[in-house]
Amino acid sequence: MIELRGVNKHFGPLHVLQDIDLTVGRGEVVVVIGPSGSGKSTLCRAINRLEPVDDGVITIDGRPLPAEGKGLARLRADVGMVFQSFNLFAHRTVLQNVTLAPLRVRKRPKEEAERRALDLLDRVGLADQADKYPAQLSGGQQQRVAIARALAMDPKALLFDEPTSALDPEMINEVLDVMRGLAREGMTMVVVTHEMGFARASANRVVFMADGRIVEDRAPEDFFTRPSSARARDFLSKIL
Ligand code: ADP
Ligand code: MG
Repeated sequence: MIELRGVNKHFGPLHVLQDIDLTVGRGEVVVVIGPSGSGKSTLCRAINRLEPVDDGVITIDGRPLPAEGKGLARLRADVGMVFQSFNLFAHRTVLQNVTLAPLRVRKRPKEEAERRALDLLDRVGLADQADKYPAQLSGGQQQRVAIARALAMDPKALLFDEPTSALDPEMINEVLDVMRGLAREGMTMVVVTHEMGFARASANRVVFMADGRIVEDRAPEDFFTRPSSARARDFLSKIL
């Protein structure tokens, strides 16, 4: 579903993505971990072209990423992204947040978009919050709205960039629950997270990044019990 071959990216002198090869099959869940500054967010942003890359090829569902234009808008719509900071529209209700892109980008009829949005809000446990504004919700609720909003575009894959890092501890599980459900249902997901419980239980693979490189790409049990690189061992000793 997602394939990167020989992807490189610089920010000035900083080589943030170095010869990245990564394949995420349909229905796979890949957890990306690594120290701060290792390039995890840049990787996510490159996958849906929020960030252009210098060279290499990125394909989504077999199609190379177009540089710009209509094809790019469609492709972005195919790959949903959920950010650490929720990024909801503050002056729109929960329902409007979820229907906005389907109305504008997918040109769905309003009634259909609202019906689907309410279904998705129900699925993330927020059907009764549809008419509230983001500021009236907890962080965990806002992040679940952000997930419903991403799902409303019927994405082929979802990228999560530290979706629980900004949340109070008691809210982390309600968001992980939704993500675990999506993983079980076969959603293709790339998840940057330090929630190792999620990685062990839901990931097909763990990708460990350091200094812009993929250092390990392994099954979770292998990675956690027998990390092969000194970098990963050092990282795990600090977070576990
Ligand atoms: P991570 O998500 O793993 O913490 P990032 O992908 O955010 O890492 O950042 C990787 C490196 O690229 C860091 O050194 C960061 O400071 C740098 N970086 C990220 N975005 C930019 C940018 N827009 N301009 C310049 N440097 C950036
Ligand atoms: Mg990051």
